[in-house]
Amino acid sequence: MSADLRALPSVDRLLGEAAPLIEAHGRVATTQALRHTLQEVRDHRPDPLPDGAALIAAATARLEKAARPGLRPLFNLTGTVLHTNLGRALLAEAAIEAATAAMRDAVALEFDLDTGRRGERDSHLRGLLCELTGAEDATVVNNNAAAVLIALNTLGAGREAVVSRGELIEIGGAFRMPDIMARAGVRLVEVGTTNRTHPRDYLGAVTPETGLILKVHTSNYRIEGFTAEVSGSALAKIASDKKVPLLNDLGSGTLVDLSRYGLSPEPTVREAVAEGADLVTFSGDKLLGGPQAGFILGRRELIAAINRNPMKRALRLDKIRLAALEATLRLYRDPDRLAERLPTLALLARPQAAIEEQARRLAPLVAATLPAGFAASAEECRSQIGSGALPLETLPSFALRIAGPGGHALEALQAALRDLPRPVVGRLQEGALLLDLRCLTEDAAFVENLAALDHAALA
Ligand SMILES: *Cc1c(COP(=O)(O)O)cnc(C)c1O
Repeated sequence: MSADLRALPSVDRLLGEAAPLIEAHGRVATTQALRHTLQEVRDHRPDPLPDGAALIAAATARLEKAARPGLRPLFNLTGTVLHTNLGRALLAEAAIEAATAAMRDAVALEFDLDTGRRGERDSHLRGLLCELTGAEDATVVNNNAAAVLIALNTLGAGREAVVSRGELIEIGGAFRMPDIMARAGVRLVEVGTTNRTHPRDYLGAVTPETGLILKVHTSNYRIEGFTAEVSGSALAKIASDKKVPLLNDLGSGTLVDLSRYGLSPEPTVREAVAEGADLVTFSGDKLLGGPQAGFILGRRELIAAINRNPMKRALRLDKIRLAALEATLRLYRDPDRLAERLPTLALLARPQAAIEEQARRLAPLVAATLPAGFAASAEECRSQIGSGALPLETLPSFALRIAGPGGHALEALQAALRDLPRPVVGRLQEGALLLDLRCLTEDAAFVENLAALDHAALA
């Protein structure tokens, strides 16, 4: 016999008993949640029917779930420090403070405080960028994809861009160099072969139709074996002899010598500028450790042309990110203290011994929060830099290795970890869940958060 739905209380009666919910979530959202809860009961006709208290509890769960921000902080224990899907770089405190202040108050975004006249948005970063890289001039746009797009469009619309076949990259998220060129109105002229490109290939391809030569950092792969590429300086010589500009897209780009922090050296932006590239582009939220942004540095008249391009208005940055970028770049004026102040660098430079100590200390505490059948131990692993920076380089690290009772237990555990107040994201590897601790800086909060694990969902 199915339950008698007439026994269900009305929305109005439930509202009368839901004062705390109305206080927390508002009358409109509470009414809607109660309606949906009642509808669900009518659709499924459970027997016995839930009473008023159970209905309010169900509506509470519904409201609390809906109130959780989609962008709430999570623990990135994937082992990828600059994880594009998890928001890339963590900002320095100085950048967070600057962004917060700019959000709360009016700032001199396009206002010259010396003269009282209209100022320029780029002026806040130009001096710092030129000082840190040796470039003549600089501008900044929404991200590096935008930087490449507007630079290509400005230098080469209706003309040709010469690029090595080995550098026609796809970065992911539908950023494919040939597509970006097409959208920029530039005709692609591929030179060389997948594995080898020589100076004569470029020389033979430059014609009166050429708008620019493009060099692209092969960020997320390496071609190994029988290979040849033309160096940035050789290409700059070719470009200047042929009187066409050279655009060098560095991708991640770095302002400091990474070997100082135990990483493989990458060409710095300063080196790319000194080699003679006319324009250099790179990201704000990769190795640089700032918010999402794309920098374009180089020759004054080319930067001026980019700033005149109507696309610039569509790709510009708001005051919040400009404030964060300015504060981030300022940290680079004191390289000795950079690793203490810039979280990205601090995480990349963390010594394995420190992570191992952390893993051994946390393993028993974490094991104690897991349901029966799961075990946690400390295990050596390798972290990645991410975002296409130094693609082949991995960093020695340590993880909590969580083994499950078999079946789909680990997938269920992963789902339960994602459902925590502060979600935890790790990676499955060789039949275990690895939580790489390189990016874990709040041990106590991490363990406390695990106390909320839904054991019922894992039974
Ligand atoms: C990452 C990357 C881009 C895109 O930069 P975003 O900041 O993600 O827009 C462009 N070119 C190269 C070589 C890259 O590595």
